[in-house]
Amino acid sequence: MTQDLTTPHARPSHAPELRAVARHIGRRRFLTATGAAAALAFAVGLPGAGTAAAAELDTAQLTDDPFTLGVASGDPHPDSVLLWTRLAPVPYQADGGLPARRVTVEWELALDARFRSVVRRGKATAHPEFHHTVHVEAGGLAPGRVYHYRFRAGRFVSPAGRTRTAPAPRSRAAELSFGIVSCQRYDQGYYTAYRYLAEEDLDVVLHLGDYLYEYAVNDAAGARAYPAGTLPSGLFNHETVTLEDYRLRYALYKSDPDLRAAHAAHPFVVTWDDHETENNYAGDTPENSVPPEEFLLRRAAAYRAYWENMPLRRPQRPEGPDLKLYRRLHWGRLAQFDVLDTRQYRSNQAYGDGWQYPGPESEDPSRTLTGAAQERWLLDGWRRSDAVWNVVPQQVTFSRRLDTPTPPAKVSMDSWDGYPASRERVLAGAQAAGVENLMVLTGDVHVHYGFDIKRDFADPGSKTVGTEIVTTSVTSGGNGSARPANYDNLTAANPHMRFYNGLRGYTTVTLGPERARADFKTVSHVTTQGAPLTTAASFVTEAGDPGLKPA
Ligand code: FE
Ligand code: CA
Repeated sequence: MTQDLTTPHARPSHAPELRAVARHIGRRRFLTATGAAAALAFAVGLPGAGTAAAAELDTAQLTDDPFTLGVASGDPHPDSVLLWTRLAPVPYQADGGLPARRVTVEWELALDARFRSVVRRGKATAHPEFHHTVHVEAGGLAPGRVYHYRFRAGRFVSPAGRTRTAPAPRSRAAELSFGIVSCQRYDQGYYTAYRYLAEEDLDVVLHLGDYLYEYAVNDAAGARAYPAGTLPSGLFNHETVTLEDYRLRYALYKSDPDLRAAHAAHPFVVTWDDHETENNYAGDTPENSVPPEEFLLRRAAAYRAYWENMPLRRPQRPEGPDLKLYRRLHWGRLAQFDVLDTRQYRSNQAYGDGWQYPGPESEDPSRTLTGAAQERWLLDGWRRSDAVWNVVPQQVTFSRRLDTPTPPAKVSMDSWDGYPASRERVLAGAQAAGVENLMVLTGDVHVHYGFDIKRDFADPGSKTVGTEIVTTSVTSGGNGSARPANYDNLTAANPHMRFYNGLRGYTTVTLGPERARADFKTVSHVTTQGAPLTTAASFVTEAGDPGLKPA
């Protein structure tokens, strides 16, 4: 029923030893340390048991509000939802302003926003090993229902969040509305899009990656000032490498009230892209020339901080440098969501990455974007699916993008274009499984695109087998423009591209049994607050007749 995801394991905690090692040899040398240190780092940090367990903090000793970073919920199932918060009275301090003690947190779930009719309550433990984050799987819930939740620690009560469960398994859900977002570089703008998203009437929000950026946030904090009351800017003016770096960066991002409002308003289903770890990494290959064993230490830190700070369930808890993020969610028989991870298992980018001419290296059939296991899981899941819509929330652009209508044309080696054999196996698998209504959801590129997915992108006359909705960034890239400089080239070179807009914003999608509708929303600017929201374009696609048509 109700499970506290951070139940202590009967494994010793090495966290103090690891911190000591790191302090002793310094960050640079720590990262170039030997396999022994790597093994230590990967084993580290599960809450200890018995004598190694942290003592419990008497919550009467809490003198400052620990709920500074808001609440969140995620991955709705028909009978349960994941509830999240983090205790951090001093969020820009490495320890969050708490001693290395366990803290007991109470939670409650109600049918109403005033918590008059509480239907579930329980206790969870915030462990110092998990940076005092709380992940509660609230179970025994009714399907297809809205709930309100909040936490309590000592005399402090968290802000309330609103969430919902998925419809009953195999039920004929009438409609599903969701938002899609990606790419929210903090220092490049205000989260105005999130302010509007929080006010939308949605069942769920899908985050498609680049929740944070690893780059240094400079002293001027780019387009906006550091949060009030801060900061020794040294906290953020270097690239994130260590666990502490990544944890503090999540605190910076979650200091934003609009982001917190969006999390409080809707359950999120999250997947990552590259920047939660490092720009354009591929599996165990980093962007720059760092040996894989060193990069894996960094990846372990990044993945751990990601799990800690996202509303993710137990199966997504990381083991060292590994975290199984790909997973399946259902919305009755209306939709099946196969959430992908196209970073952790991919072959290295061909031709040194970037936009390049395709050739034997990129077209090598052994190359993969998903890894073999995830690809098998996706195709198996499609074969068993009886959903009207097969939705694939993922990271990088699926449809072909040639950069010019005049051959030879380049393609992006970081996207599915750089892994054409992988894309062909997925499209052939969808066809073999009889997937009728394929909808791919994408982030990463900081622009809105709408695509018809062609069975063979090289042949404009080939069948349209699905649609791809690419959502622009929330802030990344700064203000952007409705018609980027390459607009004419890209739209002429790619007739299956039905829409292109380079402003910031988000997208909403409504799925029904007969058709789906996508509304591409934009804000005029992000470098100052208060931009108005515009629906730049709306499309529909009919069930059984794929392809985008203006709404
Ligand atoms: Fe991005
Ligand atoms: Ca990206």
